[in-house]
Amino acid sequence: MEYAERLQQMIDESENIVFFGGAGVSTESGIPDFRSVDGLYHTQYRFPPETILSHDFFLSHTQEFFAFYKAKMLQLGARPNMAHKKLAELEKEGKLKAVVTQNIDGLHQAAGSKNVLELHGSVHRNTCMDCGKRYTAEDILRSGEVPYCTCGGIIKPDVVLYGEMLSDDVMNRSVKAIAAADMLIVGGTSLVVYPAAGLIEYYGGNKLVLINKAPTGRDGRADLLIPGKIGEVLSKIK
Ligand code: NAD
Ligand code: ZN
Repeated sequence: MEYAERLQQMIDESENIVFFGGAGVSTESGIPDFRSVDGLYHTQYRFPPETILSHDFFLSHTQEFFAFYKAKMLQLGARPNMAHKKLAELEKEGKLKAVVTQNIDGLHQAAGSKNVLELHGSVHRNTCMDCGKRYTAEDILRSGEVPYCTCGGIIKPDVVLYGEMLSDDVMNRSVKAIAAADMLIVGGTSLVVYPAAGLIEYYGGNKLVLINKAPTGRDGRADLLIPGKIGEVLSKIK
C-alpha cells in the first residue's frame, strides 16, 4: 500500500510527532462516533447527541442525560485497537510527544500512552457537584437512573459538555505541543467541533497527515491524505 509507505517515510524522518484525533479513533474498538452512518446521529433518541450532551440538557433533563450517557458513552468493555496501540509504541520509542484527543473514553491511556491531552475530559473522572467527592466510571454505571453522592449531591462526569468551556491548561498544552511538532497526524475526526478542530492551525510544518474514513473540510490542508480506517492504516507502520 503506497499510502502506508509514504506515511512510514514521514514518521522515520520525524522526531517530534503529535497525534490529534477524535471519535473515529475508537470506532474500531466498538464505540460509535457521531457522524458516521452507524454513528450516534442516526440512532433513535428523542434528541440529537449534541443536545443531550449539553450543559443545559444535563441540568434540565438529568435522568434522560444519564440514560443516553450510560448506554452510549460509557463503553467500559471497549479495548484499545491498533491505532491506540501504535501511537503508544511511537511514544515509547521517543518519536511521538503527545496525543491530543477529543475522546473521553480513556483508550489511549489503556494502550499505554502517557502524555494524553484530553480536550473534552474523561468518563473515568466523576465529581460530586456538592462536595467534590470523586467517583469511578464503574460507580456511575452501577448507580440508579441518576448517580448520587453519599452526601446527596448529583455526581457529574468530568466531560466537557456542549456549552461548557474547555480547560485552559489542556488547551494551552495542546497548542504548545502542536506548534512544536515536526509532524502532525490527524485522524478519526470530522474537524467540525470547535474550538478543538481549530488546533490544526497551530501546526506550521510540512508533514500534516490526515487519516479519515469520510472527507473533511480540511482535506486540502493535508500533505498526505489517507482515506481509510485509522487502525488498519497505523497497523502497517513499523
Ligand atoms: P465525529 O463523529 O464528528 O467524526 C468522526 C470522524 O471519524 C468521521 O469523519 C468519520 O468518517 C471518521 N471515522 C470513523 N471511523 C473511522 C476509522 N475507523 N478510521 C478513520 N476515520 C474514521 O467525531 P469528532 O470529530 O471526534 O467530534 C465529535 C465529538 O464527540 C468529540 O467532541 C468527541 O469528544 C465526542 N465523542 C467521543 C467519543 C469517544 O470518546 N470515543 C465517541 C463519540 C463522540
Ligand atoms: Zn457529595
